[in-house]
Amino acid sequence: MPAASATWVLARMEMVLSPEDAVIKTTCPYCGVGCGVDASRTGRDIVAVTGTADHPANAGRLCVKGSALHETAGLGGRLLHPRVGGTRVDWDTALDTVAAGFQAVIDRHGPDAVAFYLSGQLLTEDYYVANKLMKGFIGSANVDTNSRLCMSSAVAAHKRAFGADVVPGNYEDLETCDLLVMVGSNAAWTHPVLYQRIVAARERRPGLRVVVIDPRATATCDIADLHLAIHPGSDAFVFGGLLRYLACHGALNRRYLAAHTEGVDEALAAVEHHPIDTVAAIADIDPELLETFYRWFAETEKVVTFYSQGINQSATGTDKCNAIINCHLATGRLGRPGMGPFSVTGQPNAMGGREVGGLANQLAAHMDFTPDNVERVGRFWRAPRMATRPGLKAVELFDAIERGEIKAVWIMATNPVVSLPDADRVRGALARCELVVVSDCMENTDTTALAHVLLPAAGWGEKDGTVTNSERRISRQRALRPAAGEARDDWWIISHVARRMGFGAGFGYGAAADVFREHAALSGFENHGTRAFDIGALAELSAAQYHNLAPIQWPVTRANPQGTERLFDDGRFFTATGRARMVAVKAALPGQSLCGRFPFVLNTGRVRDQWHSMTRTAQAPRLLSHVDAPFVSVHPADAGALGLAAGDLAELRSAQGWVRLDVRPDEGLRPGTLFAPIHWNDQFAAAARVGALIAPLADPHSGQPESKFTPVALRRLAVSRWLYLVSREDIDPGAFDHWVRIPITGGYRYQLALLAGNDLDPQAWWRRLARGRATIDFEAGAGAWRALANDGSRLDMAIFAAPERAQLPEPSWLNGLLDRVLPSPPWLALAGRDGQGEDRGRPVCACFDVGDRQIARALDAGADSVKALGAALRCGTNCGSCIPELKTLIRNHARQQSCGRHNHAA
Ligand code: SF4
Repeated sequence: MPAASATWVLARMEMVLSPEDAVIKTTCPYCGVGCGVDASRTGRDIVAVTGTADHPANAGRLCVKGSALHETAGLGGRLLHPRVGGTRVDWDTALDTVAAGFQAVIDRHGPDAVAFYLSGQLLTEDYYVANKLMKGFIGSANVDTNSRLCMSSAVAAHKRAFGADVVPGNYEDLETCDLLVMVGSNAAWTHPVLYQRIVAARERRPGLRVVVIDPRATATCDIADLHLAIHPGSDAFVFGGLLRYLACHGALNRRYLAAHTEGVDEALAAVEHHPIDTVAAIADIDPELLETFYRWFAETEKVVTFYSQGINQSATGTDKCNAIINCHLATGRLGRPGMGPFSVTGQPNAMGGREVGGLANQLAAHMDFTPDNVERVGRFWRAPRMATRPGLKAVELFDAIERGEIKAVWIMATNPVVSLPDADRVRGALARCELVVVSDCMENTDTTALAHVLLPAAGWGEKDGTVTNSERRISRQRALRPAAGEARDDWWIISHVARRMGFGAGFGYGAAADVFREHAALSGFENHGTRAFDIGALAELSAAQYHNLAPIQWPVTRANPQGTERLFDDGRFFTATGRARMVAVKAALPGQSLCGRFPFVLNTGRVRDQWHSMTRTAQAPRLLSHVDAPFVSVHPADAGALGLAAGDLAELRSAQGWVRLDVRPDEGLRPGTLFAPIHWNDQFAAAARVGALIAPLADPHSGQPESKFTPVALRRLAVSRWLYLVSREDIDPGAFDHWVRIPITGGYRYQLALLAGNDLDPQAWWRRLARGRATIDFEAGAGAWRALANDGSRLDMAIFAAPERAQLPEPSWLNGLLDRVLPSPPWLALAGRDGQGEDRGRPVCACFDVGDRQIARALDAGADSVKALGAALRCGTNCGSCIPELKTLIRNHARQQSCGRHNHAA
């Protein structure tokens, strides 16, 4: 081991294994809420997690993903050693290969022939070092991040309106406002702890009204006083209409506008043709409901507009964000408690990445590419070769790889073959790229499959650094144990490549704290209040102070050493004039139109218990209990017209690609629209990367792709045979037309399907699979058969096959099959249900493993509220993520009871 490596390992061992740190405060690595986590450790195992009681983001709460963190922190699937060309190598060889490979491309083709693609999962320190190497030393700005897909429209809008990328308020404002407008956000599933804070605030203050604006009726609508199910993509018309309504009803704050803004006349002129009836017709909603929303907004001083990917992920996302911000500027409602526009980020460190310049059109510390900023940053870094102009944004960057202009790319902590639009083309581009380096903590992803060099990165619980959540709050992610195998922190890996490229003087960091201090110092360097991002007061933290750094909101300056709760309370902004800019937004509907070939609109997003491409969350079987397979939601009327029923297999096809998904009828959709989750990929399903469907159309200001509006075709696939298989070992399901791999306790469950015309003999396939084991099989009637393989004492595998899916056992029953004692006689394991014990049904509450049939029985027995269900079954009493679904089940049960009474009386 090289001396540098040995020193680093010893320092980390001492840091993470000190006995007094058995419970360590850290931060959840998933969404942008940024919850504090108390993690307990026994030896090197993380054995339990709870919410940090005094963390300002979550005050002790965790959602189901956060509360399963210890279940996803094992070694399963980890990338443990560096690899070059598929062969394990030592770190020196791997680092030399990367440095030499990048240098050779730079020598031959110049610095713009190389690129980094980063991630909102990286810590700020990692991000900082990567950005510094590319923009200051290699001399290109081709460094972009998957945060481009998350909130770059909000960033562009903030800069247009405020002159700086600033979220003015904080989470408390969501609780203390009197009207909360939630736009394009299913926070109940995507930001669950924040949603639970809002639910609790409403219980304390029933006067807090909630308006949800979303084409879908989601779990978030559970708290909505008003839901506007608008036509997809019509948001800018709705907020343009609101601005006009405010002007027509004397609700503009003229004094504020005169003192603190510019551009109001142009902004108002742009919405002149947005009367309520016109907007209601475009948005396809009831004008009275629209007017109700407008009236509530006009008459309520303390309003927060909370928006997320439903707004940002659009080819006109920046305009949509500015249409929202315009309404707050026009009423002077920002910078004070309980009011303001609030962009919530999807990723844990999307904001940290913005602070260091992780986006290709930023430099560092909220500076851009003006000559004075380039000179300032170059002087601070003592950089030999500063980039002087913006680089390529994510979609452009992969286009350049496809064209062969970028010949070497280093991808860190992200999976663009799954997440980028036109994902099949991205895969093709990487397959042709001369040098693909991937740093990741997981070995097998759709992207690592294309890497020439694989570098093992430390994962959550091993990394040490900081993240910034959606309310500008910097929190520490702390190492709880030594890194797995030979994994290293990303900042360490990048620094050692930089040293090998001859930049040792700029990258001599020994610890994350060194990087943080430099980052903080740059933010304050020649700032003098001209840049919003300033944490200069943290630039001299000692190692111990950094280790113990408590969550704090930037700016953190000598004048405000305790951080800053809100910005713009003085009406001064970071534009050249000091005034906020109202933007004249020309509202537009999505550019792609429906046609006979592609008649449906596809919307994409997340499900409750999964995160991104599932590399971590799929490690915990209980996180796959709520939704276990990729699906497409279809309005029942559309499903009926296409002959689709729940559980059918359907093909979605767009101009870019196709996928195969289970059908789920959903009354919450607008007819003509579909919804599919973004998570599944080639590691977990045969053909379910919805990124392959999405067109690479991006917003001209932000570069953020249009992921919420894709014209697609939908059709039923004729399945000749369905099969469910459970196995202790991972098997190759590639012989089937459709498969889904679902990790369960003790092994895997597979959903397999053969399409009509496929002549694979599944019984012969099974016999090959089970060869060498004792097997039992029987015909189950109606064309169904079942079989198992065992070693005499325990079940190894079992398979259930039938022409109809409904003939197969409940997946939730199969999930426990490998856990059960092999019955006597063993064939009883093929019964498909327990002779004794409870049939739980489809899982609803992941924390306490409560299913819908248990809930139905409790409702039949008289439980009539979430509280009563919690008392009977414990569901909904931990993270609260299932509460909206519990309420739906209660409502449906009450409706059925009332229909039953009505029919009985008739
Ligand atoms: Fe993690 Fe859930 Fe908190 Fe998001 S809401 S940070 S996923 S615990």
